[in-house]
Amino acid sequence: MRYSQIADNLGKVRGRIVDAAERAGREAGDVHLVTVTKTRSLDEIRAAVDAGAADLGENYAQEMMEKAEALADEKVRWHAIGHLQTNKVRGIVPFVSLVHSIDSQRVGRELDKRAAAAQREVPFLLQVNVSGEASKFGLAAEEALPLAKSLAELEHSRLVGLMTMPPYCEDPEENRPYFVRLRELRERLVDDGVAAEHLRHLSMGMTCDFEVAVEEGATLVRVGSAIFGPRH
Ligand SMILES: *Cc1c(COP(=O)(O)O)cnc(C)c1O
Repeated sequence: MRYSQIADNLGKVRGRIVDAAERAGREAGDVHLVTVTKTRSLDEIRAAVDAGAADLGENYAQEMMEKAEALADEKVRWHAIGHLQTNKVRGIVPFVSLVHSIDSQRVGRELDKRAAAAQREVPFLLQVNVSGEASKFGLAAEEALPLAKSLAELEHSRLVGLMTMPPYCEDPEENRPYFVRLRELRERLVDDGVAAEHLRHLSMGMTCDFEVAVEEGATLVRVGSAIFGPRH
């Protein structure tokens, strides 16, 4: 894709976020765009950054570490959005801005331990599988309350919300119920005693369904293909 097209696409995605927020009576400024850069070249990423992308999302720790190093001169925040293995936590902790995909006690505690060693505070989200689809990562909704209560007590990694990723996306409306479920889960957790400050964020919505996600309360949307074109 031509680099000017990337800037163009980024502007269009931003416009669509603003429109969706307005439809829902929300402040567009409460919705943060995470530009998903997995598989994209450094030149493509720089084109997006030059056009104003400041939050970049990667799935694989190794790829994120290499890109963060290569782009160290750019003012960007890195988001870990893919399934995270315990042995990958240490490598990303020195620079990651937000981990979207914590789905177990073990990885959450590892994040806290490594953040303490790096003398950083690392915010994270709990990834919840609200669709019940067996093949996806994320914890079951029933596990969210005990895990949120336990991980909210960590001192160096800080729980700040929930993330979900629906199993498919053909018709964005089909995913609306999942986004509603994540929002309702947050309300339930607050009712059950998890402090609201630990549940400020909902990370939901990708290229195919981010407008619906914004209408249902997303504070972070993770968009790749609509900006860079299809992945090969
Ligand atoms: C790849 C990916 C995205 C972005 O997908 P697009 O359809 O390209 O927008 C968002 N979230 C996660 C977890 C991903 O793996």
